Amino acid sequence: MKRAVFPGSFDPLTIGHESIIRRALPIFDEIIIAVGHNVSKQGYFSLEKRKNWIQTVFSDEPKIKIDDFSGLTIDYCKKVEAGYLLRGLRTSADFEYERAIAQVNKAMYEGIETIFLLTMPEHTPVNSTIVRDIIRNGGDAAKFLPKGMNIHD
Ligand code: ADP
Repeated sequence: MKRAVFPGSFDPLTIGHESIIRRALPIFDEIIIAVGHNVSKQGYFSLEKRKNWIQTVFSDEPKIKIDDFSGLTIDYCKKVEAGYLLRGLRTSADFEYERAIAQVNKAMYEGIETIFLLTMPEHTPVNSTIVRDIIRNGGDAAKFLPKGMNIHD
């Protein structure tokens, strides 16, 4: 069973995340979208909202599971018996950051492989921080959010 974990804050889920997840579906038998949380670092949206939006967007996709975790990502991967970590790459800055994390994860846990998918060009500038700022300031972020996801839900 090829099980991957797609970890992130998803604060909130964007079309960039959605695209990476949908494009990875043919590669894996199961993808767990794992919302990372940390008691000392609260997200902007509640964990419950973030998970509910993901649930709504992927409700028709049996290969996708949704969960949350705190602590080290590799400890979570061991717990759920996932051999793959899925990450998206937008820019060279993403690459440098992700390279270090993936190499350290591999050094700590040999049973994990990190698989990177390059973002679709049109999603390169989309990130949760900007989308949050738009929403916080009363703008319309709909074009950056997956279809069927209502930020007011
Ligand atoms: P983190 O809090 O770890 O940065 P995010 O929720 O921002 O997590 O993102 C989770 C994953 O989704 C990361 O691998 C990130 O590179 C990827 N990602 C985020 N936005 C995009 C996008 N627009 N296109 C492709 N990948 C993206």
